[in-house]
Amino acid sequence: TIDFEKASFKDFEDIAGIDPFGRASLFNDYSIYKRGRNQMNYRQLATSGCGPEITLKIPGIPINRFISLVSNDYLGFTQHPEVKAAAIAAIEKYGSGVGASPAIGGHMDFHEALEEKIAGFFQRESAIIYTTGYTSNSATLQCLLRKSDLAILDQAVHASVYEGCQLTNVKSFPHNNLQALERILAAAQTKYRTRMVIVDGVYSQDGDMAPLKEIVELCKRYGAYSVVDDAHGTGVIGKTGRGVIELDNLFQEVDLITGTFSKTFAHIGGYVVAKPELINFLKFQSRQHLFSASSTPAAACILKAIELIDQEPFWMDQLREKTAYLRKGLQSLGLNTGISQSAIIPVKIGDMSRNAEVCRLLLEAGVYANQINYPAVSRKDARIRMSVMATHSYDQLDDVLNAWEWVITKSKIVNFE
Ligand code: PMP
Repeated sequence: TIDFEKASFKDFEDIAGIDPFGRASLFNDYSIYKRGRNQMNYRQLATSGCGPEITLKIPGIPINRFISLVSNDYLGFTQHPEVKAAAIAAIEKYGSGVGASPAIGGHMDFHEALEEKIAGFFQRESAIIYTTGYTSNSATLQCLLRKSDLAILDQAVHASVYEGCQLTNVKSFPHNNLQALERILAAAQTKYRTRMVIVDGVYSQDGDMAPLKEIVELCKRYGAYSVVDDAHGTGVIGKTGRGVIELDNLFQEVDLITGTFSKTFAHIGGYVVAKPELINFLKFQSRQHLFSASSTPAAACILKAIELIDQEPFWMDQLREKTAYLRKGLQSLGLNTGISQSAIIPVKIGDMSRNAEVCRLLLEAGVYANQINYPAVSRKDARIRMSVMATHSYDQLDDVLNAWEWVITKSKIVNFE
């Protein structure tokens, strides 16, 4: 037993331990901890809202305004006047909170409207909403997959998917490796009650996409269900921003579409879109939906954000043009931007401590980008991750490129492959 009053850092590290899937926690990683807040941007303290610029207080750095590349608000809708007005109007009408979970009085007409709206957005009949995107995945998978089932995961899926699979059997395949996926599906055909393949649409660390058409075909051939979490593709990918499923018109083919309202949809919350029977089951079975308070009235602003995707498609065009501009600029500086196909652009650095140094130098040059280290990626695959927004100006993107040029030429520590 651990005496929490007397426990040292090391004792807490032992509690943090390793999760059931063998992944270390952030807390557990001494090398990250030892670098301290000065060199890592985990929980960096911001004193402004999200947008292309951000105000931060960082010990040892004399400036406090930075160009921000850390937000998933890809179309800039958190600052859109109509989205903000919708949130304010809903708070005026309903108050600041809902006071209960959906099972016992916390299900209001704007929640119902949101379920209908997001189902319609994906050309489907029904959806359930959750208070976070994380819970949409974890709660749904926990409900559907038990001891006699098998979850088949792309290794790079989000943490929330791993969390949802703790009550079931799990096999994972190397990222986007269709041969390995097929081998698992073929071997698992008769052994389990339900086989469910779970992938992301756009992957959060590399910014690349799943070969969804082929994955769905494999699922059909081997009688498995398909689940796609397109948190980062929605509003970014596809002619009308429906995400990766739009590319091959897979709206009716994917069994469950999951996602979040915290990125392009500019608020917080998550959803699952699927056939009505399954959604109905979740509405009465999913404990995190039934017994946890539903989203606050401000969530009504998501209805406006969803409409804006169709009403103001120029934001998506802007995002694509600016992403291409930044990616090309980084590549012409000789940087390795990996396999990104979305608004997420990684610059591969490799070593973790070198990654921390690069992040720090970028901050000194006025650019705030995330450093991504183990356990989010493998130990030798550390990178700086940048997310472009439609509302970045070309001047800001040029400043980012100048900052990288400075980091490359002035510092001795950076030796890019
Ligand atoms: N899925 C993916 C792929 C994500 O990147 C995230 C957000 N980090 C989530 C799910 C969880 O969404 P939320 O932050 O809205 O809980």
